Amino acid sequence: MRRQRTTLIAVSTLIAITLTTAAPSPANAAPPEQVTALTAHQADGYTTLAWQPVDGATDYQIERTPVDANGTPTGAPTIVGIWRPNRQINQQAPTFADAGYNPGDTFQWRVRARTGTTEQPYSNPVTATTTAPWGNPDTPGESLRTQWETTHAAQYTSDTDEYAYTAAIDTLSDRVRVVELGRTVQNRPINMLVIGHPAPPATPAAVAATAPVAINCNVHGNEPGDREACLIMARQLAFSTDPRITDLLSHTTVLIVPTINGDGRANNTRGNSTGQDLNRDYSLIRQPETAAYIKMVRDYRPVAGYDGHEFGNSRAGDLPMLPPRHQNVAQPIFDQSQDMIEGHMYAKGAEAGWWACPYGCEGGGNVGLSEETILRNTLGLKNVTNSLLELRSSGGQTRPDEGNTANNRRRKTYSALWTFQQFLDYHRADRADILNSRAESIELQAANTGRLVFRGSRPIPAHPAPHPGDSPPPLDAPPADLILDTPPCAYKLTDAQYNGARTDGPGGVGTTVAQRIAAHGWKVITIGDDHYVPLNQPERGLIPLLLDPKGVEKLTDGERVPPTLTGRRNGPLVVTGFTCADNATINGPVTVRAGAALVTTATTISGPLTATGAAGVLLADSTVNGPVRIANTTDAISIIDATIAGPTDLSANTTGTDAPVLAGTTIRGPLSCTGNNPAPTNLGIANTVHGPRTTQCAAL
Ligand SMILES: [Zn+2]
Repeated sequence: MRRQRTTLIAVSTLIAITLTTAAPSPANAAPPEQVTALTAHQADGYTTLAWQPVDGATDYQIERTPVDANGTPTGAPTIVGIWRPNRQINQQAPTFADAGYNPGDTFQWRVRARTGTTEQPYSNPVTATTTAPWGNPDTPGESLRTQWETTHAAQYTSDTDEYAYTAAIDTLSDRVRVVELGRTVQNRPINMLVIGHPAPPATPAAVAATAPVAINCNVHGNEPGDREACLIMARQLAFSTDPRITDLLSHTTVLIVPTINGDGRANNTRGNSTGQDLNRDYSLIRQPETAAYIKMVRDYRPVAGYDGHEFGNSRAGDLPMLPPRHQNVAQPIFDQSQDMIEGHMYAKGAEAGWWACPYGCEGGGNVGLSEETILRNTLGLKNVTNSLLELRSSGGQTRPDEGNTANNRRRKTYSALWTFQQFLDYHRADRADILNSRAESIELQAANTGRLVFRGSRPIPAHPAPHPGDSPPPLDAPPADLILDTPPCAYKLTDAQYNGARTDGPGGVGTTVAQRIAAHGWKVITIGDDHYVPLNQPERGLIPLLLDPKGVEKLTDGERVPPTLTGRRNGPLVVTGFTCADNATINGPVTVRAGAALVTTATTISGPLTATGAAGVLLADSTVNGPVRIANTTDAISIIDATIAGPTDLSANTTGTDAPVLAGTTIRGPLSCTGNNPAPTNLGIANTVHGPRTTQCAAL
């Protein structure tokens, strides 16, 4: 869960003490206003400069001079960086990530303080050779380079070069499998690298069991900096023998989608070839590109994600970030995402010298809002801890040397590479918390309690001083007319709404609502000509945004179905049609008839519960004080965060492509699952079973 801020500050202070005491004492040697103890640490594509702070300094200037092997200058000294007090949380140990040079070249650095506009003396110089592009040029695999690397950032990697490069990695590394998720409107492959150690699991379901992480590198075609970082990182993950890398890959699977918007990248446009901004389409999935990504999320079930962009605000930090803010996102996912950003990225940024900050930062404008069409929010509503990543497009006032285009591109790409590597480290260190937050969120969502908001964000407060950004994004509170205080049990769609032709896709055609709901992975129950989408599901916060009449960007006007059974009821209950029990106590056996459906939340059934040939049985946050037997169901089965005091049997259920869910449930008795097609899944949330588990449920 979220770290307390007091802990963060304590950690930062520790770092400060460590850095300060590690530096050689400058006593007596230098005037007090001269920077001392300058160090230069080399990393992938950047150099972390650190120094002893000067009392009363307003800011610092970082100077870089190219030198030859003997340390003799080969070019003019240039001010390449301005360190300001708002750029890192721990100001007692200033650091600056200098990037924007040709990796492998040798430089001399000096740093000086300014008091007001008065320039103080420079520090003594530090000379070092920077880290060459990753990978031994003589080792197969490691020797691969992207078009961007071989042209020294003069050209971005083309689509054909990307395909050749990733195919070569696939061929040369046992750790990597490249899969095609789909095709763009113009028929470009949308590829994903699936990376694990010693090899990636064979199927999406097997990958899902490893709690994978997903990086979406390039949705806006004219924001290519993150994509180049993804391609470099893929090579590192594929071939590095660094124990950190093999450890990371032994504990998860890394999913990298370099280019979801290949048409936009090829044409250097923000949108796809139809002009659609794909980062306004992840909920509606009108476009083949976004549909491919959302099906990937359904099948591979990443638990954490990053979404790469560039930001044209010259006053922002290096790396604006933002969690899923939509108020329908479950609190644990919001908290975990904030922990990743503020708890990890701000702290690590202060060590490495990168300036992470809340999206918006200074004068950010009306950005970072609650549209569920944005991947950041869509993923949050799918219970994925995640963040937006922006790379400040221009050098801005703090990186005055980036009028040089190649240098500007290098800074952006290597700052993205740092972020994605940190993302993997965060997942490795906080995996248990991420999974707990996900499990809690799925159970909270499935319980279907509390208001629904159709648009509106959680506030992002300014990080307490010292802070890395003065201006968080706008409040974006939900307007009263976009709040629904009492949620329905389900939405009912007519057959025309569900299966009818649509014209909201490219070229005036579109997939049906049924196909899009299937892509999201929601359970649907069909009774006669009516199609019910219950809200007691893991994506409860997203369903109304697409199916409620109040939805701002919706698929259709579904009919709200209120609970049909509440309060206390005595005697046997025979369920026909669609029955929704909420906050109910049913004293007696319950039988779900063939073709009927039972949906429950916060309900207690004395039992037994028997369903044979039902259309659907969805229990959440409910208790059955007796045996449960569900057989021959045709549409949907879901049992989440339930307690069953008795033997539980799921058999011969045939629910199409939609696997029965049994998750976070306590069963006081044996659990038997036989002949179900597909086999049940637990969504990564273990059940507690006080009895033997057989066959298909043995691992649940
Ligand atoms: Zn963007």
